[in-house]
Amino acid sequence: MSVPEALLPTACATPPVRFERGQREVFCGLTGIVWLHRKIQDAFFLVVGSRTCAHLLQSAAGVMIFAEPRFGTAILEERDLAGLADANEELDRIVGRLLERRPDIRMLFLVGSCPSEVIKLDLGRAAQRLDRAHAPGVRVLSYSGSGIETTFTEGEDACLAALVPAMPQASAAQETQLLVVGALAEIVEDQFRRIFAELGLRNVAFLPPRRAGELPPVGPNTKVLLAQPFLSATVAVLERRGAHRIPALFPLGAEGTTGWIRAVANAFGIAAARVTAVTEAGERRAQRALEGLREELAGKRIFMFPDSQLEVPLARFLSRELDMQPIEIGTPYLNRDLLSAELALLPAGVPIVEGQDVEAQLDRCRAARPDLTLCGLGLANPLEAEGLATKWSIELCFTPIHGYDQAADLAGLFSRPLARRARLRV
Ligand code: SF4
Repeated sequence: MSVPEALLPTACATPPVRFERGQREVFCGLTGIVWLHRKIQDAFFLVVGSRTCAHLLQSAAGVMIFAEPRFGTAILEERDLAGLADANEELDRIVGRLLERRPDIRMLFLVGSCPSEVIKLDLGRAAQRLDRAHAPGVRVLSYSGSGIETTFTEGEDACLAALVPAMPQASAAQETQLLVVGALAEIVEDQFRRIFAELGLRNVAFLPPRRAGELPPVGPNTKVLLAQPFLSATVAVLERRGAHRIPALFPLGAEGTTGWIRAVANAFGIAAARVTAVTEAGERRAQRALEGLREELAGKRIFMFPDSQLEVPLARFLSRELDMQPIEIGTPYLNRDLLSAELALLPAGVPIVEGQDVEAQLDRCRAARPDLTLCGLGLANPLEAEGLATKWSIELCFTPIHGYDQAADLAGLFSRPLARRARLRV
């Protein structure tokens, strides 16, 4: 017996999407380091960039220099930028010194930036060279976090895609593996591990792993379950290694989490009764926790600027579980394939806008006077000054928001700015 159709992705017409091209107002992919360095505990992220990159990381992460953080910036000086110094030689020296001083590092990411791309520093080749030089103790990989044509969640996508070639090959005889892909808070990962164990799944792995030496194998017996919607590049390289993606909702809110788990159960042929037994307590707990918040948020109009690529699943959660009214859903990129189940559950008629023309969007937002605006940090302060309540979309990546027990925390991110504004009015 397999799982019933409820909450499984269905083939349906995609709602109309408008494209916009113009000035963009988003953080670059370096920002992903702020949550990724906490996740892979023996990795180090070395940005090869400018002082601007170093300042961005330092202020976004809010880490004291003396705290020995697991990220840093190799600053390209004017001599490097002008091509007067051999940047590769300097990089080798910096990496050598770093690894000598920090023997705890097992994986080193060289992270490209706008300046390293502009001077065409080939970090892929540098990583191969350094990998050979520091094997077997340290694995050296590279990816780009540059702000040229990327948004901040693409940094995580690029990092995870860089990990895939380093994953061992799974043997054809291996038991089918569930591979959950996307950085999750450890507490959330543990909750999902328990749920999958209760479903009877024995071979479950997470990417990224907590330690560099725990990279799971991948192969034709791997079924990929995305925890985040912005991982298009990672899925593509996993599929090239033979893995198959399980189409699913994303685990935001009670409905999203149940839909996510049911999709797994269906892919593994797990009995419907067992799935209900495993999910019903968590789903009820989440629904109860959302009740009070729904009273606060029902009917409130929300305008979403394109920023995190989480906007579509969020709009589904906010409209269906909290009765909020999305009036525009902006997203930097829309992968219709990865988001097909989500798009099918959006309220009819809400404009979905892919890409960004920030001035035009600001005009529409001001004209609509939404109760709440989801946007990047750069837009939030001016909009607040104009009397609009805002929520920073980057908080969605720093806060545990996935799963049943985080559903109320996710809703709370949207209710708090409204409550604060109401208090200011008194
Ligand atoms: Fe700025 Fe580019 Fe560095 Fe990001 S990578 S901080 S956008 S210079």
